[in-house]
Amino acid sequence: MSADIFEYAPAPESRAIVKLNSEYGLFINGKWVPPQSKKKFFSINPATEEVLARVSQGNQADVDKAVKAARAAYNKVWSKTKPKERAKYLFRIARLLQERAREFAVLESLDNGKPIRETRDVDVPLSAAHFFYHAGWADKLEYAGYGDNPKPYGVVAQIIPWNFPLLMLAWKVAPALATGNTVVLKPAETTPLTALLFAEICQQAELPAGVVNVVTGDGATGAALVNHGDIDKVAFTGSTEVGKLIASSIADRGIPATLELGGKGANIVFDDAPIDEAVEGIINGIFFNQGHVCCAGSRLLLQESIVDDFLTKLQSRMAKIRVGDPLDKNTDLGAINSAAQLSKIKELSESGTKEGANVWSAPCSLPNKGFWYPPTIFTGVTQAHRIAREEIFGPVLSVLTFRTPQEAMEKANNTPYGLSAGIWTEKGSKILWAAQQLKAGVIWANTFNKFDPASPFGGYKESGWGREGGRHGLAAYIKGAK
Ligand code: NAP
Ligand code: MG
Repeated sequence: MSADIFEYAPAPESRAIVKLNSEYGLFINGKWVPPQSKKKFFSINPATEEVLARVSQGNQADVDKAVKAARAAYNKVWSKTKPKERAKYLFRIARLLQERAREFAVLESLDNGKPIRETRDVDVPLSAAHFFYHAGWADKLEYAGYGDNPKPYGVVAQIIPWNFPLLMLAWKVAPALATGNTVVLKPAETTPLTALLFAEICQQAELPAGVVNVVTGDGATGAALVNHGDIDKVAFTGSTEVGKLIASSIADRGIPATLELGGKGANIVFDDAPIDEAVEGIINGIFFNQGHVCCAGSRLLLQESIVDDFLTKLQSRMAKIRVGDPLDKNTDLGAINSAAQLSKIKELSESGTKEGANVWSAPCSLPNKGFWYPPTIFTGVTQAHRIAREEIFGPVLSVLTFRTPQEAMEKANNTPYGLSAGIWTEKGSKILWAAQQLKAGVIWANTFNKFDPASPFGGYKESGWGREGGRHGLAAYIKGAK
């Protein structure tokens, strides 16, 4: 053991708690049904490339069946269920998520590649918190400021990405049910397993059949759902590219949508910031969840006078990030979610080098199997570089510099996105001044990546439409509310 590296013994979480089926059907009208497409696809563990399960590919006929089930459940049961009864189901689901937290945490790590430390401490507890929070709203909607008789839309189509599979499900399903809507959910192709386990929770909670339906599949399944003629609202989280497709496909149908899309968040460190704390915050901002975070602080803006000192400390901290087995409790950075995402990260990183930025990756040994990328920073980045403009969605940080606070604001806002930003300074007045200038939906000061179900989340410009979470997020599921 060298003097400056403290070694830990491996501390793997057991996967025995997860009982995987070899095959899964679709969850429609409270039952598991085979897909009418008769097609299946594999979900793999991106850390090992091991096949975890065969999952059903939903086609148009399957989507139609699910929408019909959601419509019947809405008309016959859910729209007639008293708000305080709806709340009971949400509380039950929240409690069951807590009871089965370890199972969900292990399964999410297996299917997604993210470290167990994060699924255990972030994804699963926050998912339960979303159901608890919205359970509290279900019978108090008339006091939410959306009129004295708030009405749901009806059947909601929900499409979620692979980076926070269970948490994005919770962000979508909890407010929809609390406000009295029924749901057809399409999880991401590479991470369907926690949504399927959630379907089991719905059964265990004795949620009336058809209130939540889960149709697995790929982008075509998502498109079939969005284009279905009998949905009343769309809620989508994913890329700006697909968000635009969805916006155009519903444009002439009078269907409202919430779109939570991409980001290229600026994390701004002023010369009076507490440097050691800021280094930790920058690390968390870009390496949490392998950088597969829409609100990641993927652009570091450093005031020129502190650049050398800051980068020395940042690189020394990056060298201590533990990359490897997602089920090891000591792991900080897990696997990249898919081969496709890995090649996107590589392509954008190569463009950074070609366009003249300087690359540095933390020295670490990467496993032979699976999809991996080391913690990486680019310095000498200009605003014109692709790595300063495009979302990399991986553990790659682009470092830019500034001389004056005003220049920092201009550079931070020089992006087609506007989802998040971070401010690091010891002066409260500077925080308030900067927060007013920044065009971002969420702004953290002297911290980063803090989430709470009571706090609305969403973006400006190409980062999307609408808000999720908090009182604001309820509006998306109440007819006529803004
Ligand atoms: P994506 O390709 O847009 O996929 C998101 C979901 O949409 C997946 O379930 C996907 O299915 C489905 N889909 C694909 N094509 C579709 C179509 N034509 N019609 C309907 N649905 C379709 O995004 P991703 O690459 O999985 O996720 C990463 C992106 O999500 C990033 O840009 C990130 O910033 C964004 N994101 C935003 C937030 C936020 O809250 N703002 C949160 C998380 C992620 P498949 O899985 O089969 O492709
Ligand atoms: Mg998977």
